[in-house]
Amino acid sequence: SYIVELRDVWKIYKTGDIETPALRGVDLRVARGEFVAIMGPSGSGKSTLLNMIGLLDKPTRGDVVLAGKDVSRLSSREMAFYRNYLIGFVFQRFNLIGRLSVMENVELPLVARGVPRGERERMVVEALKMVGGEEEWLRKKPTQLSGGQQQRVAIARAIVGKPAILLADEPTGNLDRASARVVMETFKTLNEKGLTVITVTHDPEVANCSHVIYVIRDGRIVDVKPPVKEKCIA
Ligand code: ADP
Ligand code: ADP
Repeated sequence: SYIVELRDVWKIYKTGDIETPALRGVDLRVARGEFVAIMGPSGSGKSTLLNMIGLLDKPTRGDVVLAGKDVSRLSSREMAFYRNYLIGFVFQRFNLIGRLSVMENVELPLVARGVPRGERERMVVEALKMVGGEEEWLRKKPTQLSGGQQQRVAIARAIVGKPAILLADEPTGNLDRASARVVMETFKTLNEKGLTVITVTHDPEVANCSHVIYVIRDGRIVDVKPPVKEKCIA
């Protein structure tokens, strides 16, 4: 049984009478505990693919099955529910909320599902520990931290609700090499604890930290490659 299964997934964006096919018949199966990298040129459909897996958008055609549940044709309310429990997201630009403290940022997914304050605090501290963060960060605003530290906070927010799948879109795209290494070490540790990780990247040294590299071009998976473990940044 796969944690992620895409069957002949198509996504066609419609803007007025212009149709842009972003995914053109994607089949993808990811086993629980796998670490997958997705590479491909700009505009090839990588973000669209992550949006389908992450319940941010629905396929025009085909099936998306997460943890055995067909999520291709849910209402937006149901999508939000399954997204909150199944998925953690990490983005290139961290997407932390500037006017909130680190604590308030990380606990957001727990607030959304009504977890009481005391339990939220315990879970936030645990998540921050998992990413190698420090408790003194909790009262700070995100911009008082370095880029690498902000990305670790974003990873803490992504995992605080104990999702089944961690999705990352260019997680090291805004980081220097040292910070990129720390982020990928964190991904490897989380993956070794059983979390399924799927990351989009342009960086071969990031892709080489995965178990398998899928290459996407013009909305289709055109190649599957083994990573070169010795060339993983972490
Ligand atoms: P990548 O992440 O590989 O750069 P995307 O998935 O962002 O690729 O985009 C794939 C194609 O779909 C591109 O041609 C892009 O311009 C188009 N596209 C992406 N999102 C939208 C959207 N919301 N509306 C219309 N076209 C879109
Ligand atoms: P990325 O850095 O992940 O490739 P993009 O800059 O391609 O992101 O896209 C940023 C956002 O804009 C995404 O939400 C994507 O869906 C949307 N988008 C991309 N291309 C188009 C487009 N041609 N029309 C409308 N929205 C688009």
